[in-house]
Amino acid sequence: MLTTEQVQIAADKFTALTGGNIAPYLEACVHCGQCAEACHFYEATGDARYTPAYKLVPITRAWKRSKSPLSWFGLGKTVKTEELEEWQDLIFDSCTMCGRCSAVCPMGIDISAIVAATRQAFAAAGMGPEDFMQAAENVRTKGSPLGLTSNKLVDRLEWLEDENDMEFPLDKKGAEILLTVSSIEMMKYPDSIVAMGKLLDHAGVSWTFSTKGYEATNFGFLSGKMDLAKLGVTRIVEAAEELDVKTVVIPECGHAYGVMRWSGANILGRKLPFEVLHITEFLADLKRAGKLKLKPLKGSITYHDPCQISRRGGAADAARYLLDDFAEDFREMTPTANFNWCCGGGGGVQAMASATDLRHKVFKIKMDQVEATGADTMVSSCANCRLTMDESIAHWKWDHGLNSLVEVMAENLIE
Ligand code: SF4
Ligand code: SF4
Repeated sequence: MLTTEQVQIAADKFTALTGGNIAPYLEACVHCGQCAEACHFYEATGDARYTPAYKLVPITRAWKRSKSPLSWFGLGKTVKTEELEEWQDLIFDSCTMCGRCSAVCPMGIDISAIVAATRQAFAAAGMGPEDFMQAAENVRTKGSPLGLTSNKLVDRLEWLEDENDMEFPLDKKGAEILLTVSSIEMMKYPDSIVAMGKLLDHAGVSWTFSTKGYEATNFGFLSGKMDLAKLGVTRIVEAAEELDVKTVVIPECGHAYGVMRWSGANILGRKLPFEVLHITEFLADLKRAGKLKLKPLKGSITYHDPCQISRRGGAADAARYLLDDFAEDFREMTPTANFNWCCGGGGGVQAMASATDLRHKVFKIKMDQVEATGADTMVSSCANCRLTMDESIAHWKWDHGLNSLVEVMAENLIE
């Protein structure tokens, strides 16, 4: 049960956040309901609570009470304890901040931005799924949500070097690019790290990892703990400045790309001193320059668009350019690219045990999409999507393959 003080903290934070572009959104909803069927949580369950517009309610109430014209006459409703408790799972477990609802909203309301603001108020009040909020705190104490400390990073890289008979440059001053990692990859999918290294070496790129700024994911942003969001961005910025690199490459992680590419400067409070590219964008540039030589990829494949890379990131074309002339039998899903369905685990939902059943239900949408293509395998370029989908594939005992785009590329390099 929340205390009165917690409720007041949340209400005050809501009020503080309803400046800038948020307030017009709160006035703009015409309750047309078009966003409902765009949201995978509603689509998978038919539960009206999952209608995106419903997620606007707590912050809208707080704004009406404190700032809107209604507040002048004391007419706005007060935020109540039971409402905050009711909305907690809507704001955390059932919003991946995928932005699909905004793509259909006639009023252009950025619901994922409002969910992000609402999470900030909930976090300030000490709310949020315990496991997820702890993972965010690990960023402060261990440097990474999955506990990938700097020492562990070095150990894991040495192990991967031995296993794969290759070298990973570390803290190399003056390298062309700083390559970051997602701790999900390091702990669950290390082959994708090896694959990135092989592709960059093959193309003759001067690159490095950093022991100071390595974690690409930003659980601070996802959890609404903006001090941690700034800490994550700052670590990478300071590492890049120290190593004098001009480009930071984000690995196969959607939200890591979205946060650094589109919010990094605002979070930091100054211009980023480097260009930010997703690994697919950087590899696409290498391909354009004729620096990637690949054998044709056999078998039929389809591509899952990570929301923060395609719809929210503006980089849907990069993966397709890489697959063009490489995948012999590439089949697009329907819908695809900027309107593709979310995996169900973005926005930190993957890290919330309480959302597990819901994620599995949502994954049925993806299964239907892939089966409609007839493709044997699905590839993607986000380790978080991959983990979400791998768990659901196991849950449903689905007989389709799932792989990472960088891994299939590295497996088909012409040496
Ligand atoms: S951002 Fe995505 S998950 Fe969140 S309400 Fe909109 S469609 Fe649903
Ligand atoms: S589509 Fe936009 S205007 Fe319509 S109900 Fe949803 S948020 Fe409101």
